[in-house]
Amino acid sequence: MTLIFTDFNPLYMKKLSILLLSLSFIACKTAQKTQNTTFGIDETSVTYTQYINENDLKKHLYIIAADSMQGRNTGEIGQQKARDYIVTYYKSIGIAPPKTMQSYFQQVPSAFMKSRFSPKLNDADNILAFIEGTDKKDEIIVISAHYDHVGMKNGEVYNGADDNGSGTVAVLEIAEAFAKAVKMGHKPRRSVLFLHVIGEEHGLHGSRYYAENPVFPLANTIVDINIDMVGRIDDVYKTEGNYIYVIGADRLSSELHQINEEINTKFSNLKLDYTYNDVSDPNEYYYRSDHYNFAKKGIPSIFFFNGVHADYHQEGDEPQKILYPILAKRTQHFFRLAWQLANQEKRIVADKK
Ligand SMILES: [Zn+2]
Repeated sequence: MTLIFTDFNPLYMKKLSILLLSLSFIACKTAQKTQNTTFGIDETSVTYTQYINENDLKKHLYIIAADSMQGRNTGEIGQQKARDYIVTYYKSIGIAPPKTMQSYFQQVPSAFMKSRFSPKLNDADNILAFIEGTDKKDEIIVISAHYDHVGMKNGEVYNGADDNGSGTVAVLEIAEAFAKAVKMGHKPRRSVLFLHVIGEEHGLHGSRYYAENPVFPLANTIVDINIDMVGRIDDVYKTEGNYIYVIGADRLSSELHQINEEINTKFSNLKLDYTYNDVSDPNEYYYRSDHYNFAKKGIPSIFFFNGVHADYHQEGDEPQKILYPILAKRTQHFFRLAWQLANQEKRIVADKK
């Protein structure tokens, strides 16, 4: 999650009017209704969800958020070490890069990342790992998480275990569940792109680069499921971790919102909290993580987020503070959603463009 209100944020210049408008929205801020439609919920996810577990998440996260990763600042040695760990893992579970690429890396040039908010950053790599689908393989599900963080300050490592080590390892575990399915003869119908982006903390650069230089046509990219900060409990929930904030799902696709609700009701039973999906939310989280670069292109996007806490962007964001059972439960939900979207007969549509 970036601190920066990125320069393409269309609300940036409209704060005052939004503030006034928000007064009239407060009365409408009720839970969003679930209708009784069904999309043919695919129950086969049950077989593979078991491969997502807290021990694996913990093992990965203690490495991704180790002091040796030096806070994973974009273009620096720590980020490169994290990159190499991620790629080694994909190789070990048999997931290759997209066929059209020579490697897992999409290099994001330094010059591209220079904007009025950014310091000069070295070139850095997005990581792309890919499972080709079967009868609907030209349609792509993107599962994204940024793996950069803010680096070191005054000799202190900012480990970024929650931000966004948690999302990074969630994607690794979701990939493992898909890989197991493939090995057991159950390839997804649509293709799945596991996208680890850089430059997020400096202004969502890696995802913007991908969206402007897509490896697969955006017209066939049916969704971005973005995972950024999902291993902690925020200051609102304090001790009760059975929740997740859902942002953006219904902004472009009523089906995406609906399917996420149905999957949750049937399997996951998390409290889906829409507080930050409110268009009048002053935090503007909708514009502050990587899904926005897909949404901006009209691609239905859903952002999962645990909210902020005292260690947000502080040196105390460490792996021992992650709640691994909760991280596992949330990650299983993200997998079920991805599985459903990859396998249901009809692709979801952006009906609210
Ligand atoms: Zn952040």
